[in-house]
Amino acid sequence: MTTTVIPFPPAVTLPVENSALTFPVRRVYCVGRNYAAHAVEMGHDPTREAPFFFQKNPDNLVLPGNPFPYPALSENVHHEVECYVALKDGGSDIAVDQALACVYGYGVAVDFTRRDIQDEAKKQGRPWEMSKAFDHSAPVSAIVPASAIGHPDHGAITLAINGRTVQSGDLSQMIWKTAEIIAELSRYVALAPGDIILTGTPSGVGPVKRSDHVACAIEGLAELAFEVI
Ligand code: MN
Repeated sequence: MTTTVIPFPPAVTLPVENSALTFPVRRVYCVGRNYAAHAVEMGHDPTREAPFFFQKNPDNLVLPGNPFPYPALSENVHHEVECYVALKDGGSDIAVDQALACVYGYGVAVDFTRRDIQDEAKKQGRPWEMSKAFDHSAPVSAIVPASAIGHPDHGAITLAINGRTVQSGDLSQMIWKTAEIIAELSRYVALAPGDIILTGTPSGVGPVKRSDHVACAIEGLAELAFEVI
């Protein structure tokens, strides 16, 4: 047996709803501008251009029951509530009609974004990572297995701050559907069991501040609540 020069980093595993089992995370992908109303609010054309992708790190995920620590170096951190999909299978060039067979389950997540740093990156033509893939940047709910709920293609997706609903959309408004996202992403990279994909946010993104209580839900699917500290 070989010995590592440092200890292995801890594995990142997500809870599975109503189960003692956990889901080990390999990679975290995100889709940009996948709801027309959000594309418009960000100043973009909402026509159906090909989806684009970025990544967060598995250890950026915040497990249920934990707060979101407001990050340093930003004065404008935005919430983006999103449905995420967790893969039990993968591959390259996955056909759209085979894509949902790769899905283990679904949940709700927040793609926190340091909007000021992202705005500067866009202006300078620089990478987005420091605005998107920062520590604790993605609180996530437990995963609900597709074996229990099927593959949701509609349902209200909401985010409330201190009891006031600020984001409200419906999964049916996704420009690119879950199967299409998996198929398209698999043309760029080989997907594998353990990958999760955040599928984009409806309109109403905006800032959070310390001591806010954030509550997210996807109707009939999942809920997630946490404090900003
Ligand atoms: Mn997003």
